[in-house]
Amino acid sequence: MAQTKDYGIRCPKCSHEQQAALFDAINVTEEPALREALMHNQLNAVTCAGCGFSFQVHKPLLYHDARCKFMLYWLPVPDGAEEAGEQQFAGVLLQLSAQAGEQKLPPVHLVFNRTELIERIFLLEARLDERLIEYVKHMMYLNNTGKLDPARKALLFNAHDSTPDDLCFVVQDAVTRQMEAVLHYPRKTYAALAEMFRADDKQRMLRELFPGPHISARTLLRQQPGRAAAE
Ligand SMILES: [Zn+2]
Repeated sequence: MAQTKDYGIRCPKCSHEQQAALFDAINVTEEPALREALMHNQLNAVTCAGCGFSFQVHKPLLYHDARCKFMLYWLPVPDGAEEAGEQQFAGVLLQLSAQAGEQKLPPVHLVFNRTELIERIFLLEARLDERLIEYVKHMMYLNNTGKLDPARKALLFNAHDSTPDDLCFVVQDAVTRQMEAVLHYPRKTYAALAEMFRADDKQRMLRELFPGPHISARTLLRQQPGRAAAE
């Protein structure tokens, strides 16, 4: 069930303050229109009563896809505040587990910005594994050192331009948000990788590389640049 709550919001343009009902949680299986609203930047959008300016409020949101059996928690944090975000998320998980009671909680994915949120939704809807996809990105970063600096460039899985043969990734400049290049990764290679990672020891290695809850090759490489040389 969707949950909304009233929040005091200040207009970024004219500083007018008003109350607005915003979503804390949505279930897109029950209400697919809310998924569409999110995709079109219309979820938690507010129109200022003072000046008419429309803006989207970036706030924590629990996204539940009951059909594909996953939850996503979007916790907007600035770059560099990932660790504090993970700590906050631990509290959220405890609360969700308590609410679920006897029912089994689906995997809850943690994302820190809207781009990650949209990417992860498409990835999970396509039944891809988030750790494997980040592993592929990790390899792409390491194979393109000099050209693909994790400090400056984000690599994003692009479901829309992926084909039956290739998974598509785009390079986005972290500052300008411009899409700069497209990289393809054969699905056959992905399938071989998935097969290889089914082995217990490989599975463990993948979990050690991306322990979570926030799973991101880019964050990993930015936090532990030494790791690249060691592998
Ligand atoms: Zn205003």
